[in-house]
Amino acid sequence: MNTTFAHAVPVSPPCPVIERVETVLLDLPTIRPHKLSVATMNGQTMMLVKVHCSDGIVGIGEGTTIGGLAYGGESPEGMQLAIETYFAPLMVREDATAVRALMLRIGKMVKENRFAKCAVETALLDAHGKRLGLPVSELLGGRLRDRLPVAWTLASGDTAKDIAEAEKMLDLRRHNIFKLKIGGKTLREDIAHVAAIKRALGDRGAVRVDVNMAWGETEAAYGLAALADAGCELVEQPVASASAMMRLMRRFPVALMADEILQGPETAFAIATNHSADVFAIKIEQSGGLFSAQRVAAIADAAGIGLYGGTMLEGAVGTIASAQLFSTFVNLQWGTELFGPLLLTEEILAAPLDYSDFELTVPHRPGLGIELDEDRIAYFARDKLRKTTSADA
Ligand SMILES: [Mg+2]
Repeated sequence: MNTTFAHAVPVSPPCPVIERVETVLLDLPTIRPHKLSVATMNGQTMMLVKVHCSDGIVGIGEGTTIGGLAYGGESPEGMQLAIETYFAPLMVREDATAVRALMLRIGKMVKENRFAKCAVETALLDAHGKRLGLPVSELLGGRLRDRLPVAWTLASGDTAKDIAEAEKMLDLRRHNIFKLKIGGKTLREDIAHVAAIKRALGDRGAVRVDVNMAWGETEAAYGLAALADAGCELVEQPVASASAMMRLMRRFPVALMADEILQGPETAFAIATNHSADVFAIKIEQSGGLFSAQRVAAIADAAGIGLYGGTMLEGAVGTIASAQLFSTFVNLQWGTELFGPLLLTEEILAAPLDYSDFELTVPHRPGLGIELDEDRIAYFARDKLRKTTSADA
């Protein structure tokens, strides 16, 4: 007898696919003008991306810059265009669970565009975390801490106002590490500004500065000596070039941090090889996404370079994406500056983030662990015409 066995082929459920990719630009006011050597920000524009999947899950990501195009080659508007025109066709109908494979595919077809890639990768990770019931930190290898120290940037442009702002932050127990934005005035004025703030705060607050590349090398040599004397502990990107940073290293009793020149793993490797920094300001957008930022952190660890969790002044979405990643770092010697949402006057989340006792709590809920307030998003959306319903017409 010829028996035919009907082998039961296990039927796996179809994997969820990406159905559509949505973007929106939000214009949000800031609590005060934020003065950097490269720009003065009177508001912040963020690009939010939503990845809608066939299992009903929606992942969110954020792309934000500092001062439009003043800081780098990408703008929120440019990111929106890139994602809608070039990213979305590569994503639609693809497996939503294969996040790294999809990002590699996008990486082959889209050069540069590190910020836009970060926004999309964040949204994919948020969606996948929600799907699996895991925070993004667990998709990135597992968190090592639930709370992150957060520095505050004093950038009103006025010494007395900055001191008053620092005192308020100390009273609120929100921040005790202060980063001063300098480089926009004369060296003498800038040094006097830093010294006055450090004198006023004493041991109650750490003082660091960010020059945003404004100094020439000779100016920097004088400035670093004076900043060290003033009690400043860390100087971020005093000059534009990595080779000038290298020549300034270890000549002054103050740590040097790379920020603008750190643009992903390849630059991290070059900076580490050339001994051009004591510390890396790791930013998920500058790195080209969370996975790339992990590789930057690994290079820093291997080279004995300290880590600082940087910000592109992202709102809540990008800030928590960063926090989820930084919570997994073995070393985070210099804390973070994840204060972006606190610079905005408006809340866009259903439940605000927890900033308390000088730290930010990393959410435990699945995905990024945050929920947008959709009414607020609609209200602050730049292109309100798209939000007009037939009843409004
Ligand atoms: Mg910086």
